[in-house]
Amino acid sequence: MSLIVVGSMAFDEIETPFGKSGRIIGGSATFIAWTASNFVQPINQVSVVGGDFPQADLNALAAKGVALEGVQIKKDRPSFYWSGKYHMDMNTRDTLVTELNVLGDFDPVIPESYQGSEFLVLGNLSPQVQISVINQLRERPKLIVLDTMNFWMEVALDDLKKVLTMVDVLMINDGEARQLSGEYSLVKAARKILTMGPRYLIIKKGEHGALLFHENHVFFAPALPLEDVFDPTGAGDTFAGGFIGHLAKTKDISFENMKTAIIVGSAMASFCVEKFGTSRLKEITHEDISARLEQFVELVNFDIDLV
Ligand code: AMP
Repeated sequence: MSLIVVGSMAFDEIETPFGKSGRIIGGSATFIAWTASNFVQPINQVSVVGGDFPQADLNALAAKGVALEGVQIKKDRPSFYWSGKYHMDMNTRDTLVTELNVLGDFDPVIPESYQGSEFLVLGNLSPQVQISVINQLRERPKLIVLDTMNFWMEVALDDLKKVLTMVDVLMINDGEARQLSGEYSLVKAARKILTMGPRYLIIKKGEHGALLFHENHVFFAPALPLEDVFDPTGAGDTFAGGFIGHLAKTKDISFENMKTAIIVGSAMASFCVEKFGTSRLKEITHEDISARLEQFVELVNFDIDLV
């Protein structure tokens, strides 16, 4: 089974109540690839970086089974740069700087070796690029998952609406669901968004878990209650990586299996927030992942006598 991951590869600079990260490696596709590579290989990465992106980080991804043929390197230009600051509750953040740099005119080219991939995750980046990738695939993948953010709703809403008609699963956070639908109630928002194209909608609510909507069904997965959340950056992408990784590994795209995939996504996201950037994701083993999944099973498992 193979998976194409499209998204940003970036330099991030993050400020939380616990400290400042300095310039570190981030980007939606970076988090997704690090996470999904625990479940499937190869990961066929599509992105763009500048000449300043460290070769060591590309090598580390390659060692995890991430194919980089679809990652363009623009030698004389700077990589995408994003900086953000978290508030005390760590659920809300302000974007301080978004410098698109090489991402601004990124024209993705899908390598021949990526054709025939069964799964596609369109991580957060311009909807135009997301559309271009779908259009270049000769065979439609079994499942296309789309992640996006408020930034693209503000600067490229028409393209975003177009790509929504081309995908199966949309992943956004609660604020973005409200912005996209114009509805405050998440149930009403979901109903509206499900008429825009995707058959499945996942609404992420940070430390309050995630909701999966499909037709008239709703499923809820909690987030693991953690003593300390150190840096939530990339948690959404990590969630996406765990979700698609599990589906691609099991090759089962039923609603029932998506419920499990959401739990896997939540478990992976709970690692991501423990350290700055991708540092925690780089350390974890299969044993760590299994132990965390067991914690989730315990968290939601209960018996009940019906009255
Ligand atoms: P998340 O915390 O899951 O929303 O993802 C954070 C990551 O998204 C960071 O590593 C950023 O580099 C990346 N990012 C932030 N803004 C954008 C954007 N407009 N397009 C693509 N990637 C972005």
